[in-house]
Amino acid sequence: MLLIQNVEVLAPEPSGRCDLLLGGGRILRMEAGLRVPRRLARAIDGRNLVAVPGFVDGHVHLMGGGGEGGFATRTPELPFRSAVEGGVTTLVGCLGTDAVTRSLAGLLAKVRGLEEEGLSAYMFTGSYAVPAPTLTGSVESDLLLIDKVVGVGEVALSDHRSSQPSFEALAALAGEARRGGLLSGKAGLVNLHLGDGTRGLALLRALVEGTELPRRQFLPTHVNRNATLFEEATAYALGGGPVDLTTSTLPRFLEEGEVKSSQGLKRLLDAGVDPGLITFSSDGQGSLPDFDGAGRLRRIAIGQVSSLWSEVRDAVQQEGVPLGTALRVITENPARLLKLPGKGRLEPGADADVVLLDPKDLSVHTVIARGRVLMQARRVVARGVFEAP
Ligand code: ZN
Repeated sequence: MLLIQNVEVLAPEPSGRCDLLLGGGRILRMEAGLRVPRRLARAIDGRNLVAVPGFVDGHVHLMGGGGEGGFATRTPELPFRSAVEGGVTTLVGCLGTDAVTRSLAGLLAKVRGLEEEGLSAYMFTGSYAVPAPTLTGSVESDLLLIDKVVGVGEVALSDHRSSQPSFEALAALAGEARRGGLLSGKAGLVNLHLGDGTRGLALLRALVEGTELPRRQFLPTHVNRNATLFEEATAYALGGGPVDLTTSTLPRFLEEGEVKSSQGLKRLLDAGVDPGLITFSSDGQGSLPDFDGAGRLRRIAIGQVSSLWSEVRDAVQQEGVPLGTALRVITENPARLLKLPGKGRLEPGADADVVLLDPKDLSVHTVIARGRVLMQARRVVARGVFEAP
């Protein structure tokens, strides 16, 4: 067992100073003045640290993505170490534009590999495309038959790379995800990639207004990619729909009008959006393609999982968002929307996914996933199978 002593806890809401006892991959006790015999638990002195839930990154190209500039621009798989350094203990993987040379079987294998290495991982079935590629013949049966599948996505809308799905095609896909989710006890979330197109959220609005599908069935992502889409997303969220901001970016994107996630969070909160409806995801290992006006690729970079925490930290340090509120967008909120049991909160019975922060600069000090210490005092102590010491 592992005992974190006398630590300030944000569960993510401020929960005072207490002791956290971890064992069997779970949080066993969380209370002040715990007495545990020395021989039974290894102790970590938490006096100068803050304990928060391990971060949940709900949109990561775990087995790589991209390829939009030709084969040489296919991005690499997520190294285990990148997640650990970013404090991310739970990941949801997705394919992207390319569902030919990348497969759902490969993604499922990567998900299982990350689990074997000590993290928690899930996946979306499907890809950018509609009809969605699947593992077992339908989105509904993937949800029912494959434990790791929690939804479908990222389905591309308002983008020159999308399948240009009709209202009917997208409604049918979302209906399958809803049924599969209900029958399997999972979220059945439809993760929607929003591109730069002028149609913006129009198709999503038509779906939630023109069908019986609830707003919480959908999570539109990349909604901070330009000012117009961000305004649309703010109105959509004020109407009760969850929205996801993408933290990976390039300085040039911000110059051209992308809304920095940290500032986007502050703006959504100031506009009166329910803080429980906002999530961040990194789009890690995805490509950051830079197209010119004619749709030609100019250059390509790779999204970083570590951007998830840096944007939350910037929201606190630069925008004045309270830490407990900011933390929700990468812990409790994605865990609830994605219906990931045991994730996103520090409480007895939850999974022992804990990040210890240094309150002076809000840097990630220690990372514990499923009860195992992966990073201690800023040093990564667990390695992926092929990672050199
Ligand atoms: Zn995307």
